[in-house]
Amino acid sequence: MQLYNNLSAKERAELIAQAGKDRLTISFYAYAKIGNPEIFRNHMFLAWNELDVLGRIYVAHEGINAQLSVPADHFKAFKMHLDSISFLENVRLNIAVEHDNFAFLKLKVKVRDKIVADGLNDDTFDVRNIGIHVDAEKFNALIEDENTVLVDMRNHYESEIGHFKNAVTPDVDTFRESLDIIEADLKDHKEDKNLVMYCTGGIRCEKASAYYKHKGFINVFQLDGGIINYVRQINEKGLENKFIGKNFVFDQRRSERISDDVIAHCHQCGNPADLHTNCANEACHLLFIQCEDCKEKMENCCSSTCMEINRLPYEAQKELRKGQGNSNDIFKKGRADHLPYKKDLRNIFETLKK
Ligand SMILES: [Zn+2]
Ligand SMILES: [Zn+2]
Repeated sequence: MQLYNNLSAKERAELIAQAGKDRLTISFYAYAKIGNPEIFRNHMFLAWNELDVLGRIYVAHEGINAQLSVPADHFKAFKMHLDSISFLENVRLNIAVEHDNFAFLKLKVKVRDKIVADGLNDDTFDVRNIGIHVDAEKFNALIEDENTVLVDMRNHYESEIGHFKNAVTPDVDTFRESLDIIEADLKDHKEDKNLVMYCTGGIRCEKASAYYKHKGFINVFQLDGGIINYVRQINEKGLENKFIGKNFVFDQRRSERISDDVIAHCHQCGNPADLHTNCANEACHLLFIQCEDCKEKMENCCSSTCMEINRLPYEAQKELRKGQGNSNDIFKKGRADHLPYKKDLRNIFETLKK
């Protein structure tokens, strides 16, 4: 019985290209009580592997969070299987606007402590006491209300390329960090303002809204299904789109364009750009925004040092990496001092305080 992915990304990409069939990019999550995540994980892997489903899935005692690529002609069978599981029956599937047959190249189902690394101790507040879900239409009306504070619950590299008009976009690296910053900012308005929040697919707001209610906020609202579901409703119902730029997503595509506005800048030259890339130097892999010109000039690298390393033969690069820790410890996502045009609002705050 095969319980783990056994094809390389390259082998899988070849198979997908040969098959020439459309794949759908889908995400969903559900909070539930899963007694034995390991058994549940194996069950899901077997069923999905059979259907040629790929993706990154987290399973925990608290539920499931899945980002998937599903062959279009297996969608019905995929849906029937979900519906056969009590807590996943009719679960909302967020279907991407732009599809990419190569969005995921492996099926990875992982058992974790939590389905979102939120840094919260769930025993300290009532996680079921969540905010009011609003659809795109209600959301549009609500954010026009002058009593509303609209908050983006995502991290800096996500909101940098796209966000709702007039949203507060905390300059944070983690979800946990933003919770405290927002609470401190709004501490005098827990009762008189509408706290309206959104994230990519809605999962982060499920916890955030419960957390803020626990902290004393009265009027807490969350965008149902996040930006992904919002865009779908906008398109289907012909509503006004209030999202500018691109929606950052966690697969090969990196983002979906929602409006034509380019709101970010190339981190190297400052020209308008909103395409994220990872530095080509394997030892660096920094996530940053790079324009087409810089991409060519810098050979897909974030610095001339990385460019030099990247030109070395593979074996020599491996030799260099020996003894060096994980690059993620050196650089945070999308932050590095040598990128002159990366907006760092936290430094601005610190300067103001002095
Ligand atoms: Zn540039
Ligand atoms: Zn680099």
